[in-house]
Amino acid sequence: MAKLIILTGAGLSAESGLRTFRDNDGLWENHSVEEICDGRTWRRNFELVHKFYNDRRTGLATSEPNEAHRMIAKWESLYDTIILTQNVDDLLERAGCKNVIHLHGFLPEMTCAKCESIWNIGYTEWRADTPCPTCKSLGEARPRIVFFGEAAPHYRTLWDSLYSLSDRDVLLVIGTSGTVLPISQIAAMHPGVKILNNLGSESAIEDNLFDKVFHMPATQAAKIIDPILKERLQASED
Ligand SMILES: [Zn+2]
Repeated sequence: MAKLIILTGAGLSAESGLRTFRDNDGLWENHSVEEICDGRTWRRNFELVHKFYNDRRTGLATSEPNEAHRMIAKWESLYDTIILTQNVDDLLERAGCKNVIHLHGFLPEMTCAKCESIWNIGYTEWRADTPCPTCKSLGEARPRIVFFGEAAPHYRTLWDSLYSLSDRDVLLVIGTSGTVLPISQIAAMHPGVKILNNLGSESAIEDNLFDKVFHMPATQAAKIIDPILKERLQASED
């Protein structure tokens, strides 16, 4: 059975009202996010790190999945699908996706840098003076987010998935600028059909490496991509 591999970024959740790091010229309360949420220095910026992610986490409570999230859930139910996202929100899950690989972490979850336990706090704020619920350490709890300068453990899953693709499989990239993940390199290595959806051209992505390019919001593109996938992925079952 042919596979569908979907790689998504901030553009997927933009229509759900989720702001990205890059809004406001990448500044947050006059700090750069790279400076605060850095794997080497986050303890020094402990209060700010928690304030930044508390704001993002509580904001999730009032965001809703959009038609593109729901379409991805539908595709997952129909096809042999791998969903990889750079987004840390849970909108794909709330749209009904069963198995989402979060390459850069997951906002509702916390982790302890000391004992590595993971726990879910939903859309609530984490008070920086609260100890780890497992080992009781203070100052070790952090959002389960891959900070700047840190290795992303699921990149291994990403590359393994990409290397496993055949020319019958479809690669679909939605809403990513290609500045973090090497989208052009990923497209170049895939032997099958490649589809790209972004609002417009991105300087870090070579659109001509893709078979089909849709420059429009993700909800709009999802409706056009739906019959293409149906043709490609159902036909290959014969
Ligand atoms: Zn702990």
